[in-house]
Amino acid sequence: MLYRLRTDFRLSIITLLGASAVLGITPFAVMRFLQGNVVAGIVDTVILLGITGSVVYAWMTGDTRRSGLVCALVACGGAVTVGAVVGEPGLFWLYPCLVTTFFLTNPRIAVILNIASVVALVIHGGAFRSEVHLWTFVATALVVSACAYVFAYRNHNQRERLEHLATVDPLTGIKNRRSMDEELELAVANSVRTGLPYALVLLDIDHFKKINDEHGHGVGDDVLIDLVALLAQNTRKSDQLFRFGGEEFVLLLPGVDGIGLKAVMNNLQQVLRKYMKHPGGTVTASFGVALLKPGESVDSWLARADAALYRAKETGRDRIVFSDEPETSEPAVQTA
Ligand code: GH3
Ligand code: MG
Ligand code: MG
Repeated sequence: MLYRLRTDFRLSIITLLGASAVLGITPFAVMRFLQGNVVAGIVDTVILLGITGSVVYAWMTGDTRRSGLVCALVACGGAVTVGAVVGEPGLFWLYPCLVTTFFLTNPRIAVILNIASVVALVIHGGAFRSEVHLWTFVATALVVSACAYVFAYRNHNQRERLEHLATVDPLTGIKNRRSMDEELELAVANSVRTGLPYALVLLDIDHFKKINDEHGHGVGDDVLIDLVALLAQNTRKSDQLFRFGGEEFVLLLPGVDGIGLKAVMNNLQQVLRKYMKHPGGTVTASFGVALLKPGESVDSWLARADAALYRAKETGRDRIVFSDEPETSEPAVQTA
């Protein structure tokens, strides 16, 4: 539970709003019923139920987009109704709503909701003592909304930047090992659910250290960049490439097995042999391939691909080794 609150920003805001609503609105709902203001009491109760319902929905389904929107609608709609029913003291409830909308839903919807709430109260007009009072309310509501917008926008950008830094390899621009772990877990879960086959390819450039030593680190870097471009050009959109570390890459191929997988691998090997070059000659790579087995864990899947890669290196490099015989009766080891 704490982990989800820490990692899912919108869920934490929805939960915070839910907790604040229960603590902040419940006493008012009770007080209004006790004072005989049944309409205001019912409005408070509906707001409470709407927000707590959204919180429960968010926790149960993980769909924070929809529940955030419902929370924002209930909060703003509720604050406007309270302002209209209770009058001046009710206006204060709109301010926290104007701020939280930006964290509950996207900025465009939040701006529309905020403007609509202020306009609705102005048109109703009953909560204001004078013109000055009305325009003071409008001005302060707009200032609060503008500040919340800027803060939410900056926060969103910073979060995206951090996520990019944490998941993308800066040299090649592809996803790093951290993203790979998540994607492999997703692939395993998807395979269990849908039965879709998945192949995992571990690719390691042959004698890469020699390229670095003889031609410099810059040439080595260029080889890594060229390899990524070649692999991206020669794989499908649904295939995913990750930098596993150094000069090792992982290719995740959904929906291929048997003969199809062998054809894909042979094609990749041919492409690399033909186009991978550096100033001193050609560059080759070794491949370890493992098809996901039913019920298998990510660790075991990766370990089998790694063992296959090890065998490819051991038996001479520039070759493809399948961890297990594919469903066809062809030999598992493809020699160069
Ligand atoms: P093998 O055929 O057995 O794979 O030999 P290898 O030389 O490719 O493998 P080894 O593990 O001995 O060397 C990998 C080298 O990759 C060592 C390291 O300096 C280099 N390397 C790792 N990351 C980078 C990088 O980002 N840029 C460059 N240019 N070199 C890198
Ligand atoms: Mg290598
Ligand atoms: Mg290596």
